[in-house]
Amino acid sequence: MIKYLKRGKDAQVRLDDDAKVRQTVEGIIKDVESNGDSAVREYSKKFDNWDPTDFRLSQADIEKAYKALSPREIEDITFAQKQVRNFAQIQRDSMKDVEVETYPGVILGHKHIPVNAVGCYIPGGKYPLLASAHMSVLTAKVAGVKRVISTAPPFQGAPHPAIVTAMSMAGADEIYVLGGVQAVVAMAVGTQSIAPVDMLVGPGNMFVAEAKRQLYGRVGIDLFAGPTETLVIADESVDGELCAVDLLGQAEHGPTSPAILLTNSEKLAKETMAEVERQLAILPTAKIAQQSWADYGEVIVCDTYEEMLQKADELAFEHVQVMTKDPDYFLNNMTNFGALFLGPRTNVSYGDKVIGTNHTLPTNRNARYTGGLWVGKFIKTCTYQKVLTDEASTTMGEYCSRLCHMENFAGHGEQANIRVRRYGNRPDLP
Ligand code: NAD
Repeated sequence: MIKYLKRGKDAQVRLDDDAKVRQTVEGIIKDVESNGDSAVREYSKKFDNWDPTDFRLSQADIEKAYKALSPREIEDITFAQKQVRNFAQIQRDSMKDVEVETYPGVILGHKHIPVNAVGCYIPGGKYPLLASAHMSVLTAKVAGVKRVISTAPPFQGAPHPAIVTAMSMAGADEIYVLGGVQAVVAMAVGTQSIAPVDMLVGPGNMFVAEAKRQLYGRVGIDLFAGPTETLVIADESVDGELCAVDLLGQAEHGPTSPAILLTNSEKLAKETMAEVERQLAILPTAKIAQQSWADYGEVIVCDTYEEMLQKADELAFEHVQVMTKDPDYFLNNMTNFGALFLGPRTNVSYGDKVIGTNHTLPTNRNARYTGGLWVGKFIKTCTYQKVLTDEASTTMGEYCSRLCHMENFAGHGEQANIRVRRYGNRPDLP
């Protein structure tokens, strides 16, 4: 039986919030579509108090950002990018083109073609999330994308040097300092000063995620990657302190970031709740974490591992940290998750910042149908076919003609019939 020791904001309030965000985003998209750069500038002033001469950084601006970092900071970014590049390259190498003879004389194949131009949104409202540069820009480059443009909001009124440096080290071809919906729509539809891209990627707050959702179809998107969610699945093999650290470590992302503990131990649940309160009193980012924990935090106690598995799959959370006696039980049986962090020695923060797996992951139960960002998202799997013999063309043509007839497609049928007449040597056919 499932028992809630703490529940989050009710679903209706969340729906009302979503509707307001949808409306705001719709208005900004329409305005930027009609008025281009001048609308972009207006929203940048309104939401970010940011009105530079040029949103695009020059080479001199980029060099200035590098110089603002210490050698240690550059080395740390280099290390993180090396891990991300390494795993992305292994994943890229695992994607093979295919060409096979599937029927005598019939060749079918698929080839992988990178998207030509991608816009990467790097979030930076509350925190300068430079790690997103590795996850989006670098992964796009490993995939072979020719033009990768990258944008982040100003941080406390200026370009953030570590974000700019990370974007540049990751290989961005154009770097902008522009935030929110106005940045996303400018990249998608283009303005007088920004050439449009074919695909948008990267995480962001609910405005950014909703903008990508509304623009999908006109451009590609990676996935719906909104406010961070974390699920800690734990049993008495770990203690409340560790669980509380892993919950608050992600709750600090923003006031709408759910953090949930799922356990089979009421004792651990109570210990964790007390620990959360103790840690909130000393956590420097407690203001945000406190609000998200109050509004969206949950503590759920189940009787069995099977019940925990079922609940975890139903939640389909972005991050799932498993700290149980047998974490592989969840690896082998869970079907809905953005990324799994197995065992107490790793954690979501390693994945977010350094270990090499991508941190842009599905939220809002989108893990039911997609995994996170990876090189494959930047690559189109395009099929092709060849028919090498008259016999194969005639056989396919005869089947095709009858199938077209069943669908009342006369024109399609004639495409088949003409080939049967020519390659099957049947000029007598109607
Ligand atoms: P952000 O860059 O996503 O958003 C900041 C921008 O939001 C601002 O530049 C501003 O233009 C716009 N904005 C703010 N208030 C607005 C309003 N009322 N109307 C219209 N636009 C408005 O930065 P953030 O706010 O710090 O959010 C980052 C988000 O990214 C967090 O929610 C975090 O959890 C999420 N995230 C998700 C993942 C993932 O993979 N799902 C990964 C990392 C981060």
